[in-house]
Amino acid sequence: MAWGQEWLQDMDNWARAVGVTLSTGALERLAQLGEELVEYNQRVNLTAITGPSAVGIKHFADSLSLIGRNLLPPGRGVDVGTGGGFPGLVLAIAAPDRAIDLVEANQKKVDWLSYIILRLGLEEVRVVRGRAEELGTSAAWRERYAWATARAVAPLAVLAEFCLPLVALGGHLVAMKGPTLEEGELETARPLVGQLGGRIRELVSVDLPEGAGQRTLVVVEKVRPTPSQFPRTMNRIKRLSRGN
Ligand code: SAH
Repeated sequence: MAWGQEWLQDMDNWARAVGVTLSTGALERLAQLGEELVEYNQRVNLTAITGPSAVGIKHFADSLSLIGRNLLPPGRGVDVGTGGGFPGLVLAIAAPDRAIDLVEANQKKVDWLSYIILRLGLEEVRVVRGRAEELGTSAAWRERYAWATARAVAPLAVLAEFCLPLVALGGHLVAMKGPTLEEGELETARPLVGQLGGRIRELVSVDLPEGAGQRTLVVVEKVRPTPSQFPRTMNRIKRLSRGN
């Protein structure tokens, strides 16, 4: 049984290793998510990681580190470019009373997310199909979230422009990054982060369980409102981030 008793025991330990104690219900929902993800992935490409241990460590424990490090303040949050649902779906399972929006541009991934949210009965989760930088120009979405996060979506500067317009004053963005930031990524991003109303507060490093590697969480506070010229169109964002 790939997602049976043994996996549940391991998942409990992997979660504890990143500072999270999961309820039995949450552990069982994660097992169901893992099983369905791997099955659905045979038809629709959602992830390259499909072994039960790897899914538990590199998708689930990695996502849970945001809770373990106390980086989710109360209030509605948004996961930008959630793809197969990481970190957002896992956060919703671990903290079912938290309201979370999953923003995703790709329809096939949106279909998967809508399906699995129903299956898991996650009532506080909404799927929003769209591009973050387009939502961010509309008053309905702008500065509405207590926190935003994103994993494996874009370099920090681009990510900041996708996410910071959505974050309310006093809230923050947590960018989930690899063991080290790409060369110069932080320094390249810093001036734009400032223009967007953000301030890089801290870098938090996380060791994945079982020596599976290190991750860096970049915490960016929203200290001023984002000026109305941001976010720009994707074409302009790309052009400018190349020019930097
Ligand atoms: N966060 C997931 C998926 C990473 S792949 C994980 O870590 O496993 C990046 C995803 O972001 C893709 O599904 C892509 O469609 C989506 N994406 C990229 N740019 C986006 C944008 N500007 N707005 C919304 N979704 C975006």
